[in-house]
Amino acid sequence: MRRLGLFLLIACLVASAGVRAQVLEYDVVVVGGGGAGLVAAAAAAEKGQQVLVLEKMAFVGGNTLVSGGVCNAVYPPWQEPLGIEDSIEFHYQQTLAGGDYRGNPDLIRVLVEGAPAALDRSRERGLTFHPDGVFQVLGALWPRTHRPMESAGTGWIRIYLEAAKKAGAHVLLNTRVIGLLRQEPLAGRVYGVKAISSDGKQLEIHARKGVVLATGGFGANVEMRTLHNPLLGPGFPTTNQPGTMGDGITMAQDVGADVTGMDFIQLIPAGCPKTGAVTGTVGAGIASSIMINKKGERFVNEGERRDVLSNAVFQQPDGLYYTINDSRVVPEVTSWGERPTDLVAEGRVFKAGTLKELAELIGVPAKALAATVARYNESVRSGEDRDFGKPAHLLKAAIEEPPFYAVPRVPSVHHTMGGVVINRHAQVIDRRGQVIPGLYAAGEVTGGIHGTNRLGGNAIADIAVFGWIAGENAAAGN
Ligand SMILES: Cc1cc2nc3c(=O)[nH]c(=O)nc-3n(C[C@H](O)[C@H](O)[C@H](O)COP(=O)(O)OP(=O)(O)OC[C@H]3O[C@@H](n4cnc5c(N)ncnc54)[C@H](O)[C@@H]3O)c2cc1C
Repeated sequence: MRRLGLFLLIACLVASAGVRAQVLEYDVVVVGGGGAGLVAAAAAAEKGQQVLVLEKMAFVGGNTLVSGGVCNAVYPPWQEPLGIEDSIEFHYQQTLAGGDYRGNPDLIRVLVEGAPAALDRSRERGLTFHPDGVFQVLGALWPRTHRPMESAGTGWIRIYLEAAKKAGAHVLLNTRVIGLLRQEPLAGRVYGVKAISSDGKQLEIHARKGVVLATGGFGANVEMRTLHNPLLGPGFPTTNQPGTMGDGITMAQDVGADVTGMDFIQLIPAGCPKTGAVTGTVGAGIASSIMINKKGERFVNEGERRDVLSNAVFQQPDGLYYTINDSRVVPEVTSWGERPTDLVAEGRVFKAGTLKELAELIGVPAKALAATVARYNESVRSGEDRDFGKPAHLLKAAIEEPPFYAVPRVPSVHHTMGGVVINRHAQVIDRRGQVIPGLYAAGEVTGGIHGTNRLGGNAIADIAVFGWIAGENAAAGN
């Protein structure tokens, strides 16, 4: 009965302003129905807890839904057959160094050690991965990236929503959490949240065991991001969905939580010049394409970190570049679910039978482009890039089979590495370094894992690893 009724409505009056609020009670309340939130909800519900997920938008998914869904994990059964050597220690070192040693080593350990198990857990719940095998996504630094079969991040959201619901979790859409309830200001347990539905109904939801904050980052919040980086004002594009406003960070701070790394905001050098979105490409990865500027020249090692790539793009004419690849790596439908033929017809992607025609289409000097591609193809054949040091494992595909493709790209606000401080149990830490009882956080709302610069593919690993830890620990009421 208790189980069924968790909707249990205690209907009471909230004294403040004489406004009537419904009071609901659950074991675990999850704030945010994106990736980390649904993973946490599944973990807690599968532990037999009554779970409520509150999502402010009309749909679940958050940035996870629109993400590439690709996930880093050391996974020898899939890497070894491709001759890829890897280890947990190497993933750890790259994540630490890739964030300029500003990430928390303890959290990074948990991330890299937990990623393979998170992949297994997701496969057990129905996520399938691309038969093409392991690759290295932009900014990942090593081929340990796994691509789900379902387009974008839809697979992750589908399986964890299904798992959470199957285990009895409830999801309330169009319900914005506006604050956390803490027993004594800045001292006691967090025992619930205040929320408001889109029709103005006020709710107070009590959590017997714990509240999990999983509200994502603040990439779409222009005011908040310019506070931390004045260059990222209203004109600057973003890849983020509009709900990515940093609500959870502010709410956690209001009850005493500490934050870290707020100035570290990642630009991905792969945004559409018009929309900022990462969609609209032909699906060629860094191992099968080059980046050229408006002079028709390469300017960087395409396998570099995202911050290095973005800074290199800013040095180029008009702060823009094109990816160039040949026909062999272009699928009928990309992993974003788009058809390259449509993108060409819409003028978002350029395609031509010769490099000369392609150069004319995009307005770069034809001779320079031909020379750049010829020199790159030599690097592929020799296995050595003497110009920019692209590593040998990314020099696999020459650009020689017509038709040829060009896609214009610019840096776009992508990931906010800063956020709420947590420990390895996903417990939120206050400004005195103490655990805030009853409050957990996971995903992009947290800070301290990725340092100054997140490796491509490490954020999906983050939600799958820390989302699960947060859900399990909230369920235990630790
Ligand atoms: C276009 C794009 C592509 C990406 N591709 C990859 C990739 O392939 N691999 C990778 O590792 N990383 C990728 N990333 C980064 C990664 O997707 C995100 O860091 C990660 O998905 C964040 O997950 P999350 O659960 O923390 O937040 P989200 O998935 O954004 O979920 C947060 C949820 O909380 C809700 N919410 C916010 N505030 C409130 C509130 N007050 N009340 C109720 N609900 C609220 C939001 O509406 C949202 O649904 C990508 C990001 C983008 C934008």
